[in-house]
Amino acid sequence: MLCGRFAPTPSGVLHLGNALTALLSWLHVRRAGGRYILRIEDIDRARSRAELARQACDDLRWLGLDWDEGPGAGGPHGPYYQSERTELYAEALARLQAAGHLYPCYCSRAQLMAIASAPHGLAAEGPVYPGTCRRLTPEERRAREAGGKTPSLRFALPDEPVAFVDLVAGPQHFPPGAGGDFVVRRADGVIGYQLAVVVDDALMGVTHVLRGGDLLDSTPRQILLYRALGWPVPQFGHLPLLLGPDGARLAKRHGAVTLAGIRAAGTRPEAVAGHLAYLAGLIDRPEPVRPQELIPCFDLARIPREPVRVPQETIAALNGGIG
Ligand code: GLU
Repeated sequence: MLCGRFAPTPSGVLHLGNALTALLSWLHVRRAGGRYILRIEDIDRARSRAELARQACDDLRWLGLDWDEGPGAGGPHGPYYQSERTELYAEALARLQAAGHLYPCYCSRAQLMAIASAPHGLAAEGPVYPGTCRRLTPEERRAREAGGKTPSLRFALPDEPVAFVDLVAGPQHFPPGAGGDFVVRRADGVIGYQLAVVVDDALMGVTHVLRGGDLLDSTPRQILLYRALGWPVPQFGHLPLLLGPDGARLAKRHGAVTLAGIRAAGTRPEAVAGHLAYLAGLIDRPEPVRPQELIPCFDLARIPREPVRVPQETIAALNGGIG
């Protein structure tokens, strides 16, 4: 059975871009009669807040979405909060380590900042790590250990390319080593996003990962983790990002672009769904509609590949104007 999910990070409130991703991933699953999961990505506890997770659930329900598994719904693949899944990540980490895929990295934040000017291989992922600690001799490694500093753990990229066909963006090809070796466990013990998301999607049986286009660059890393862990690789589809009327990434200065702000302005959820469905190419006019009513018109082929500009009138309408 097809299985999809929405996986917000509760470090901020949901904005229109998150709502678009949630709506489209939900429609994709509902159209196929599949299983839809809501997972709260609060692995970085220092940056996550429980009330923001509650608010995300509330905003999604307000918009007219539901989920078969997740907070409030339960389900056989829980827990659905990453902060409660640390044992599962530890098991995967141990397997990767035993198979020789990981190495300790002693580089300090300052050293990593110094390489920040190196060309970026993967836009969403920051500077490419040049592999300094991968090449340490055993003596050098011992000397660093003796310094008493806790290392982070990096995944050593295998010397193989990664190619996949994105369900929205089309064929993708990344050369061997793209992005450089990445951190799977930080020095403070926090598991890296890449590993957590792969463990979760694999163990929850997710077959289709539809998410924001800013994560396209994370996908080759995740595919390599699936391969290293011997798990089947799901299909990926990266949905268009929303831009403001000026072409910059949609942000507060463009108006109230969070679901909370839009709700506070007295706008109806059907108006939000209508505008989002129109921006995504699913309907011809931005008329109010319930997500449920959009199920028959959902078609991945209609979703734009490029980022989508939200016109000023749309933002005005969602901020309590007409609409
Ligand atoms: N938690 C991520 C975010 O909120 C999404 C991760 C994913 O969908 O793979 O941006």
